[in-house]
Amino acid sequence: MNAQQLLALDNAHVWHPYSAIGAALPIFPVASANGVRLKLCDGRELIDGMSSWWSAIHGYNHPEMNRALQAQIEKMSHVMFGGLTHEPAVMLASRLIELTPAPLQTVFFADSGSVAVEVAMKMAIQYWHAKGSPAKQRFLTLRNGYHGDTFGAMSVCDPVTGMHSLFSDVLTEQYFVDAPNCRFGEACSDDKLMPLRQQLEQYSDKIAAIILEPIVQATGGMNFYSADYLRGVHTLCDEYGVLLICDEIATGFARTGKMFACEHAAIAPDIMCVGKALTGGYLTLAATLTTEEISATISNGEPGLFMHGPTFMANPLACAAALASLKLLVDSDWSSNIERIEAGLQHGLAPCRELPSVAEVRVLGGIGVVELKEPVDMKRIQPLFVEHGVWVRPFGKLVYLMPPYLISDHDLAALTAAVVKVVESA
Ligand SMILES: *Cc1c(COP(=O)(O)O)cnc(C)c1O
Repeated sequence: MNAQQLLALDNAHVWHPYSAIGAALPIFPVASANGVRLKLCDGRELIDGMSSWWSAIHGYNHPEMNRALQAQIEKMSHVMFGGLTHEPAVMLASRLIELTPAPLQTVFFADSGSVAVEVAMKMAIQYWHAKGSPAKQRFLTLRNGYHGDTFGAMSVCDPVTGMHSLFSDVLTEQYFVDAPNCRFGEACSDDKLMPLRQQLEQYSDKIAAIILEPIVQATGGMNFYSADYLRGVHTLCDEYGVLLICDEIATGFARTGKMFACEHAAIAPDIMCVGKALTGGYLTLAATLTTEEISATISNGEPGLFMHGPTFMANPLACAAALASLKLLVDSDWSSNIERIEAGLQHGLAPCRELPSVAEVRVLGGIGVVELKEPVDMKRIQPLFVEHGVWVRPFGKLVYLMPPYLISDHDLAALTAAVVKVVESA
């Protein structure tokens, strides 16, 4: 199939994320990917600034990742997880328990981030049911959040960007407070937590858990907020008897400079979701971790089972990819490497601060954000990035970078220089 035919068929028949059929927006066929470079079918090579949405932290076509997957494929690609178990799943669960905060002791493998969030919400509801508080079935969350696209997850996404009005009859109504407006690195006084406290004061008998993205509200606005705020939320949860679910699907595995973003606040959630970078971007896999107490309460309560079980639960290939990815990460000097990327993003994106179209530039760990005053014109800006030899996919007013961790200083400088040029001309 030549590129022309491929694009025609794609445009007529294939949905893309948040897309319309026949929209004729620019779209680029990829032939292969290696290291930090995506190779388009027309031969052009692009430096990847997105890590395929937070996931490809070791870049593409990594020899050690490939070897681990080849070895696993020779043994088995998949077996059902009902009544069977296998080494990749058990080893991965052990590794995740070692890496995450100490109270988290059990692991539920899910097949995507959204499903991991559904599982977390079910765990919270089943926990309270087993504890004799069956009315606690709702969730309290922050505006500008994003937790996935399935109905449960959608109900705790930002009501405006999540288009709640469109689904008003099927979405569960949850409790919302405004997104934190105290910035990362700054102190946050208790009065900023008043809206949360008020909701808890009024509704804690109906609330199973607070669910939030710790420190970085990712897809909902790339908002980096104060560790004091997160610490305050943790305290309020204890005070009012609600669980805390940290959705680390975007932030987990070192992206913010800590292995998990909740470590910035030195707190441990009751339930944690991980996904995206878990397999180094090779396969879809996510996990929901919780404490011994919650696991035991669910297991000993009515109906004596946790009510979830995906067909592809703990897929051995995906678990093998995750084990290889975690080994690469943990064996590397990841902390100073993220500092290196943070410095490169700070330095490289700094010229954007002088541009009249730019509202703010902010950097945290391996995340660089240029917030514009007006939303970008995707039709125009996407091909411009490609012409400049980089893969960057903005949304709304946000042009942001989260490159693979193995990006060289040279490629990082080229990536940020391209962003400066494109933002300047757009
Ligand atoms: C991407 C994301 C999800 C959803 O994950 P999928 O794998 O796309 O279902 C959930 N929560 C957060 C914070 C995310 O960034």
